Amino acid sequence: LLGAPVATALIDAARAQFMPFLASTPTLAIVRLGERPDDLAYERGIAKRAEAAGVAVAHHVLPLDATQGEVLATIEALNQDPQVAGVLLMRPLPAHLHEAAITAAIAPEKDVDGATSTSLYRVFAGAAAPSLLFSAGAEAPAAPAAPVAPAAPASLEALAAAPAGFAPATAAACIDLLDHYGIALEGARVVVVGRSLVIGKPIAALALARNATVTVCHSRTPNLAAVCREATILIAAAGQRGLITAAHVAPGATVLDVGMHVHPATGKLCGDVDFDAVAPVAAHITPVPRGVGGITSAEVIAHTLEAAARAAALNRAQ
Ligand code: NAP
Repeated sequence: LLGAPVATALIDAARAQFMPFLASTPTLAIVRLGERPDDLAYERGIAKRAEAAGVAVAHHVLPLDATQGEVLATIEALNQDPQVAGVLLMRPLPAHLHEAAITAAIAPEKDVDGATSTSLYRVFAGAAAPSLLFSAGAEAPAAPAAPVAPAAPASLEALAAAPAGFAPATAAACIDLLDHYGIALEGARVVVVGRSLVIGKPIAALALARNATVTVCHSRTPNLAAVCREATILIAAAGQRGLITAAHVAPGATVLDVGMHVHPATGKLCGDVDFDAVAPVAAHITPVPRGVGGITSAEVIAHTLEAAARAAALNRAQ
């Protein structure tokens, strides 16, 4: 399952739905501390995607030893700037900073990577839009997923009424990938390996909201392979290179690999799944690179377009 067609469909759908409401180019502000290679690679991916989608990117780079007050002041200024539709904070932050307090400072209506408690509440309450198809405040569908189709413009009323907040981009990317390829969550046995608040938990919550039966595994899960073999959809987000082998996968399962590592021997990107061993067993599998990762940046851009359209709709409604 390749990510590129999903990313293209998402951006096309977001442009069709939200561009009609925009009078000017929306801006995504990226806040980064220092020059971590991971952050720089992610930022480059987003900038490329943004340019193609008609979104401007403003880079706000602070030194690695920036103080809590300096980072908060940057976020606050972006919250107040009407030109800025979305704010993306590169995480994790250096250890001397209070990351939870800083993410909490992002205005929920600009929180395009679902970092704030407002966004996460929507995700865990089952009300967040797991897919662009169902955005602008609509509830998730009970029916089996359908492939992402070019969407009609959202309505002004729906946009103005939409609650603030977005699903975390990587979690949304997994759901949109499954939707795009017509792999139904309703009735599926989903096993998520990883329970971080950024990735594992929100994926599990979004899958649950779509009526999957969900198990979340972590580093203390006994007999991980046996639990994973229960999955019809296995989502690996453990941050452990090659953790998932053929022994973890039931024949015919769908396997999504969220992990991202640089292989120490080859220098190539790879995931949490041993692709060569698992591909013959699984019915569907995402590669690393060219799988989930590329959709994540598209989610951020799509959310920025939606955030800009919501802001424009609210302005008109006032
Ligand atoms: P994280 O905060 O380190 O969380 C890892 C989770 O995996 C933890 O819950 C941990 O369990 C669990 N885990 C670790 N080793 C395990 C094992 N041997 N067996 C079972 N569970 C295990 O990582 P993260 O931020 O969620 O990121 C996960 C991966 O996604 C990383 O490789 C990261 O690079 C990648 N990533 C991908 C994208 C994308 O767009 N594709 C975006 C961001 C990050 P405990 O809770 O018990 O410690």
